[in-house]
Amino acid sequence: METNYLIITLIVLSSIYALINYLIYQVKRERYLLAFTFSFVFLGTSFGVLAYQTQLPDFFAYGVYNAVNFLSYVMMLMGIRILFNIKPVSHFTKIITILSPVLILIFSLIYDNYILRVLIASSTIAFYLIEAVFNLKRSESHFPKHIKQVTLYFIYFGMLTWLSRLFVILYFGLLHNVALDNSFQANVFMILSITSTSLWFALSMWLDAQKAMSDLDDKNEQLKSLALRDQLTGLANRHFFDYDIGFLVASSKRNKSPMGMLLIDLDRFKLVNDIHGHDVGDAVLKQTAEIITHSLRASDRAYRWGGEEFLVVLPDTDREGMAIIAEKINQNFRNSLFEVIGSITVSIGGAEYEENKEIDQWFKRVDLSLYKAKQTGRDRYNIWVADEDLSEFFNRIEWQNELESGNSEIDADHQLLVYYANDLHDSIVNRAPIDSIKELILRMSTHIHTHFSKEEGILYRSGYEDYLEHRSIHQRIIQEFEIISGKALNGEISLAALMSFLVEKVVIEHIKKEDAKFFGHIK
Ligand code: GH3
Ligand code: MG
Ligand code: MG
Repeated sequence: METNYLIITLIVLSSIYALINYLIYQVKRERYLLAFTFSFVFLGTSFGVLAYQTQLPDFFAYGVYNAVNFLSYVMMLMGIRILFNIKPVSHFTKIITILSPVLILIFSLIYDNYILRVLIASSTIAFYLIEAVFNLKRSESHFPKHIKQVTLYFIYFGMLTWLSRLFVILYFGLLHNVALDNSFQANVFMILSITSTSLWFALSMWLDAQKAMSDLDDKNEQLKSLALRDQLTGLANRHFFDYDIGFLVASSKRNKSPMGMLLIDLDRFKLVNDIHGHDVGDAVLKQTAEIITHSLRASDRAYRWGGEEFLVVLPDTDREGMAIIAEKINQNFRNSLFEVIGSITVSIGGAEYEENKEIDQWFKRVDLSLYKAKQTGRDRYNIWVADEDLSEFFNRIEWQNELESGNSEIDADHQLLVYYANDLHDSIVNRAPIDSIKELILRMSTHIHTHFSKEEGILYRSGYEDYLEHRSIHQRIIQEFEIISGKALNGEISLAALMSFLVEKVVIEHIKKEDAKFFGHIK
């Protein structure tokens, strides 16, 4: 067979492959497509040089052929690296890329050593391939695993071709006129080259298609999260809320009208799923959405906040209005008949918008109120106390036997808590400078934090069964303390209100009601 025809076929194919990659690059502007384009351009060029082998000086023909062929490998690997989010060129690669031609020149011009040249060129390629394999294995791309695997097989295949060439060169020496002598070996070599070039082309197209698919998946995910409605209930979702709340707040500010927020949570909903299954649970959620919407005015907004939690924003509604609507919602649930489960109740937390406060803080007050509704027995609502309604009544605390837990560490902490509270009490009563009061509040806050975590540690180690619940009560107290002390320090509420909260909620109520539950356990 005429090897010439094969070489021309190879050059034409490489050009077409380069052109196809380039045309797609024109549309997509993805850098890896450009790298693939160059890879096929270099490949075609290298075979072009081979075609003129006989007319060129040996050294030039082999040098250029190998250099350009080598560049085509580099470009293909670079494209793959870009696709897999690996740095296209590492520092080590740069060093090797400069060092290798220099060494080859040295061993051509100064010490003419053919074997060394071949070895240097081959080990450079080997290095590129091994580095690519190594990086690819470690890379974290968003492609499915099998794509990485297939790409790795291609690189192994590249290694194999390169190794076999090295073997042939070292074993048989330079193959003179390899491309043109029409021998069986020359034809096999050319056919193998056509095959491997086409395989690389197939890989480049396949990877590009995979990239397009995975980009599409990403876009779909983004679109899904952009959807503003909840699929199950048809209510607006959290994203809608984020989008909506700015307008609502702005218009409430402009009209100087109050605004309320309610968080509605189904009671013991987990049981519904556990006993009757998820489908029944879903049906309950749908009906819940309906009951809530029917309890509201047209200007009110309802959102599915998550799982079995629903959020309602009530424009032009103050605390009294919120209480009325919350009671109506509770009542509507009590009167509703649900398929399969019969009936279910809800707990509701609410808080009024406070001007110039973060939405997050508003939501936190709502959430803390819901928690109280749950704590105090469910099937009810709890609305965050207005600043002016906070109790301002507080006294010094007397240490009482009732506060004794029986654990010396916890008792020491509790006594210190009482001591600090009394100190704060005295400073407030004696109108101490605000800075020293601030310091005492800070000292108290630090002590509460450290004491809570110490107590949690003791409870955990003692295997206290309600450990998790107690921990969450602590977290709520800390959140509430932060809100109340922040307000007191800003002058929005009086120091007396803060003091009353500390004495009543943190010291007396918490120790007597919640801590007392574990006293028996740790004694
Ligand atoms: P509590 O009275 O304290 O609120 O008790 P609860 O069981 O309602 O509380 P919890 O928040 O622990 O349980 C919420 C459950 O809601 C957990 C989950 O199984 C269920 N859930 C969340 N989202 C969905 C949903 O889309 N469909 C269904 N069927 N169940 C859901
Ligand atoms: Mg819940
Ligand atoms: Mg619930």
